[in-house]
Amino acid sequence: MPSSVLGARGPRDAETRQELARQLRHTRQQLPIWAGREAIVKAVREHDTVILMAETGSGKTTQVPQFLHEAGVCSESAPLIGITQPRRVAATSLASRVAAEMGEPDPASVPRVPVKKRKAAGGAAPAGRTLGKVGYAIRFDDRTGPDARLRFMTDGLLLREIMGRREQAVEAGAPSHAMLERYGVIIIDEAHERTVDTDLLLGLVRRIQRARREAYDAWRTRQGADSSMDVAPTLLKVVVMSATLDAQKFASFFAEPRISPNDGPVPAPILYVAGRQFQVDVCHTMEPQADLTAAARQTVFQIHTGLAPGDILVFSTGAEEIESLRAELERLNPVVEAHFEQEGKPGSRLHVVPLYAALGAGAIAKAFEPTPPGCRKVVIATNIAETSITLPGVQYVIDYGLAKERGLTRQGQAGGGSVSSLQALPISQSAADQRTGRAGRVSKGRCFRLYTEAAYEDLDVETVPEILRSDLTNTCLTLYSLGINPLTFDWISMPDKSEVAASTMSLYHLGAVVEPRAERRECGMEITPLGRRMVGLPLPAALARMLIAGGEMGPHVARQVRDLVAILSSDRASILHVPSQSSNSASRAAGAQAGPSDFDRAHEAHAKLAHVSGDHATQLNALYAYLDALQEAKASAARMAELGTPDAKGHKSKGQKSALHMHMKAWCRDNWISDKSLVQVLDIRRQLQQLCRAAKIICDDDATPSMPGTPRNKVPRMTPLGTPRSSGTGDASDDDSDDSHPAAGLYVTRGGARGRGAAGAEQEREDYAELRKCIFLGRSSEYAFKQNDGSYLRPGSDLTFRIHPSSTLMNVKPLAIVFEELVLTTQLYARTVSAIESAWVDEDANPRTRAAA
Ligand code: ADP
Ligand code: MG
Repeated sequence: MPSSVLGARGPRDAETRQELARQLRHTRQQLPIWAGREAIVKAVREHDTVILMAETGSGKTTQVPQFLHEAGVCSESAPLIGITQPRRVAATSLASRVAAEMGEPDPASVPRVPVKKRKAAGGAAPAGRTLGKVGYAIRFDDRTGPDARLRFMTDGLLLREIMGRREQAVEAGAPSHAMLERYGVIIIDEAHERTVDTDLLLGLVRRIQRARREAYDAWRTRQGADSSMDVAPTLLKVVVMSATLDAQKFASFFAEPRISPNDGPVPAPILYVAGRQFQVDVCHTMEPQADLTAAARQTVFQIHTGLAPGDILVFSTGAEEIESLRAELERLNPVVEAHFEQEGKPGSRLHVVPLYAALGAGAIAKAFEPTPPGCRKVVIATNIAETSITLPGVQYVIDYGLAKERGLTRQGQAGGGSVSSLQALPISQSAADQRTGRAGRVSKGRCFRLYTEAAYEDLDVETVPEILRSDLTNTCLTLYSLGINPLTFDWISMPDKSEVAASTMSLYHLGAVVEPRAERRECGMEITPLGRRMVGLPLPAALARMLIAGGEMGPHVARQVRDLVAILSSDRASILHVPSQSSNSASRAAGAQAGPSDFDRAHEAHAKLAHVSGDHATQLNALYAYLDALQEAKASAARMAELGTPDAKGHKSKGQKSALHMHMKAWCRDNWISDKSLVQVLDIRRQLQQLCRAAKIICDDDATPSMPGTPRNKVPRMTPLGTPRSSGTGDASDDDSDDSHPAAGLYVTRGGARGRGAAGAEQEREDYAELRKCIFLGRSSEYAFKQNDGSYLRPGSDLTFRIHPSSTLMNVKPLAIVFEELVLTTQLYARTVSAIESAWVDEDANPRTRAAA
């Protein structure tokens, strides 16, 4: 029996599914949480809110929803159990797993539901033949069928649902947010992570729960007086699940005021489920380690050659670091072999599996696959493996002690913008202990911390909730849109007031909020029609503002801005691959030929794509160059096919697809463009395409104008049938056939409005002025003027910085610039920079906003 059920996607018949579910049942019964089954169901029946505390891997996420479903906790009028996750990839992969355990069809193997159809079906996914009781919903991708009973989703998505019905509700004088009537239970999972969205949800769900309780109690009282037969309102049960011992805080937050009016609120009950935890020996390094990759490699080597069998889990920081360690470990295999040979021992190979969000659900499935015979598995992960994903069989943990959170630190005064640090930051002691615990699930384990004991002692005891350390612009916008004043919201942890003020100020500059009318004073600020449009776009406020501005400048600019927003939304800072100086020196040390360094070669390649106006346009050029190359490659493949096979009616053989794939990979390599980021950008771009359609932002390459009478069959397909992409995340390494390529059928403009030849010429002429204006409108405070010494100063602040060395404007140094972010490396740099006209700033002295409002 394979322990992973995610590897084999695709339709299974009902019988096979049932058989698999029967087999998995035994595994389920071994989980620690199984013993708490009845107690959990009972507590949920008896209380409005239950806090559940159990170690990672106990079975919280996969089992508790099933327990509640099997026990029939929900009524027919509120049949859904919603389970929120901080990460998309956890939501989709756990939904697949639970579907398998229940013998239900895997929601991930059902084609995506286009927004348009979903709208027609009143927001829900239309009746798909194969969607069963388990569904998931993440941004732009709702796979919840009409029979759904369990719905895994990101916490951001549930937030949107709460905000969704506002317009109608306000007209009717009802509360300003949705009441989540479809749900009988909301499970807020991974609550200990305390992401901003989780915190917002905790507050909003508590409001909704109380409102539904009041409605229910009122109905009960009315029922007593006269037994008029109106429909009973349903209660909302809430389960908060956490893997660390902070349960008390949630319990008092969800205290039930109604039970004992004399004694004050009674905290929600906390259930503890004892996990399975063997002893883990912890080793710290003697000295701080300068090169963590080298230290990790050495540790893996020592474990592999000296210690008993057992999988290794490495907690690294981000995609780049993971890939570089992966490469090192793969190079280690011959050394390992030689070592075993010398010792005269039979030895095994290292089987290296990377695991980070950008790889998508497919990568998670791979991490669960059984280790090939004669191998030791080494999973290199981000903190996704800390609590979201539990890998069985891990006996050794190697911990970098860092996490790359996009933590934002506000610099100084209100409206001053933010500095985002791309450095990985030290984790907390509690996170380090979580990581350590991963080694003790199957038997005694060992944890190797690549930092000193003193460094551990210096760590924060607990992870500081994100709300206390991040930019609150979107959070405040959300609350304002609900008519809630962020300063009086029921926060589980009240954010810094000055942070709220700063965010409110940027919203004001963006034109999203204005000062309230007298009678609405208590709301703090009032949302504008522009702000409302921005809330409707699930993007950071600045990008939403850009996109709206693009839409107003016509379909041509709208397309450019949409594509730029796709680039800016990806995890990586740039689609251009700039090799770091260190990887360069490493490759030299490894015997690479002398001559121009990688850094120089990349620089040369990027110069061909460079646009005089700056990095935004340069990246857009890179994207369009890729799409052009792709189209050309496809055309020539089609010509070849015509010559070769008589029946080549667009049916490409597997070989042709992979040839195209290899061709484009090589193209990326030659042009120093990161194909990994490109895959991600193209995926986001496709999602944005749907989003733009829904938001009526018309782009000139949109082949599906909402004109009545357009024959459906003329419309290029978005998701090819037969090979549905897993979870909206591309995995460049496997099924990226050209058919399932996000760009397939989209970039191609039939009828030649943007034919290939024209594109190149267009790019030469294009000065991207409107695009830059849109960027400027979105980056309301990220602009600066040059000073005499070549550094830049942001008006109204004393913050000076330079243009990042990777920028195309590094030597140009225009008078005025707009930039994406300030990064602090050896000094403060503005990154992703474009030139702007000083005049725009003057025009803009009065808030820039009203046009759209
Ligand atoms: P918790 O939420 O308490 O951390 P989970 O419910 O996520 O625990 O996981 C319970 C068990 O199910 C874990 O031991 C994990 O290894 C296993 N599991 C989860 N997903 C998969 C999968 N896709 N394939 C195989 N095992 C899985
Ligand atoms: Mg879990």
